[in-house]
Amino acid sequence: MPILPRRYQRLRSVLDRRMANLTVLLEQVDKPHNLSAILRTCDAVGVLEAHAVCLKGRMPTFNDTALGSQKWVPLHVHPNSATVLTELREQGFRIYGTHLAQEAVDYRQCDFSGPTAFVLGAEKWGLSESTSTLVDQAIFIPMQGMVQSLNVSVATATLLFEAVRQRQLAGLLPQHGEGLPPGLYNKLLFEWAYPQVAAWCRREGRPYPALDGEGAISEELPRNLRLRC
Ligand code: SAM
Repeated sequence: MPILPRRYQRLRSVLDRRMANLTVLLEQVDKPHNLSAILRTCDAVGVLEAHAVCLKGRMPTFNDTALGSQKWVPLHVHPNSATVLTELREQGFRIYGTHLAQEAVDYRQCDFSGPTAFVLGAEKWGLSESTSTLVDQAIFIPMQGMVQSLNVSVATATLLFEAVRQRQLAGLLPQHGEGLPPGLYNKLLFEWAYPQVAAWCRREGRPYPALDGEGAISEELPRNLRLRC
């Protein structure tokens, strides 16, 4: 069955605003409700994908707080922070570590309009010392109360929304898919609209079929697959 036009337009309008140049690295952030809240915020602001380094032997798990956002914002799991930070830097990201170093600056003094990666630390012990030395800039969110730190998902949301605010002021928020690398828009649109057909194409080593203007698949598919999509 073809996708409903309203659903197709919704997928398109979300993809139109996704940003490949804004991301987070979650270092040993372990609690399902925090991971879930963070991915939900990533989805809300238009982050294309997020990164995580997990505690040994653990995989990220989500709960109802995510409201399914983990389906729309892939969380890539890496063996350690050093490798992912090297990759992000090679891709042109400026890396902001969230920890109270002497050289840390108030996050409102920073320019997040270029490729930006925020590194957030574990609920209990914060960023590891080794990762702290690998960031380009240490930042903090000023605190006025008795408690010294925010919940990690709150800190993430504060930083991501500041990045969005700055980009909006600078007229840099994507409106029509320009926040994604060429070719990725159509690939993701197909995967979001027809996940089962996309999985079948990948298994069969076939390219995704083209979609017409209303999001219908414009080629004949095997009958059993047609019934499932
Ligand atoms: N005891 C830990 C420490 O000393 O870092 C507290 C960790 S805090 C609960 C978890 C994470 O949230 C931190 O590693 C950081 O990424 C983020 N965070 C919390 N409060 C923050 C703040 N005021 N500024 C920037 N990041 C903050």
